[in-house]
Amino acid sequence: MKKLIHIVEDDTSVKKLLEITFKEYEFNYISSESKKNAMLMFLSHSPNLMVVDLGLPDGDGKDLIKQIREISKIPIIVLTARHDEKEIISALDVGADDYITKPFSVNELLARIRATLRRDIKDEVLSDKFTCNELELNISTRDITLRNEKLKLTPIEYELLKYFILNANKTLTHRQILHEVWGTGYQNEMQYLRTYVNTLRKKIEKNSTRPEYIKTESGIGYRFGFTKES
Ligand code: CA
Repeated sequence: MKKLIHIVEDDTSVKKLLEITFKEYEFNYISSESKKNAMLMFLSHSPNLMVVDLGLPDGDGKDLIKQIREISKIPIIVLTARHDEKEIISALDVGADDYITKPFSVNELLARIRATLRRDIKDEVLSDKFTCNELELNISTRDITLRNEKLKLTPIEYELLKYFILNANKTLTHRQILHEVWGTGYQNEMQYLRTYVNTLRKKIEKNSTRPEYIKTESGIGYRFGFTKES
């Protein structure tokens, strides 16, 4: 069945580009040009994914995301003209799954949409085993294997890698990761995170200076998911 994408964008040319793209790639879509209309359309159409512009005529797209998150786990990709890390970080912190900056390439947007939809489907499957390329996490035995060999991990390394695997293909901010893995009060301990990411990379990457699993999103955080270095 075709997935329904909800476009929330007031810029007519960007909106048109998205509509043409989605039509061509066999997605159904609905569009809203304001926060208020977006909420009404969301409630009446139950879309599968939202693409949300942050600068809307009747307010901030982040407020819309906050409202949606109170009632739904729908995948949300933020579209921002502002090449502003702070904006991106706060959108991710209020619950967006990913972001893309304008001007964007259609291929990149489609890749992110597919990855986000895949992750959403995975969430629905009740399983305690998760794989990402040659990595496999088994939640009940607390083992993570790489090419069928058990990794030797400290408890924090395990928690961090587990969090990455469960949130694959999603941009995660430093604060989110620190809060989820280390807990309240550790949100600003960037150095902890950097150190643990380095040791994890040494354990799972073929070449830790050119990581294929844990990618750095400069100034924002990390993104886990396997993409081959070319
Ligand atoms: Ca706008």
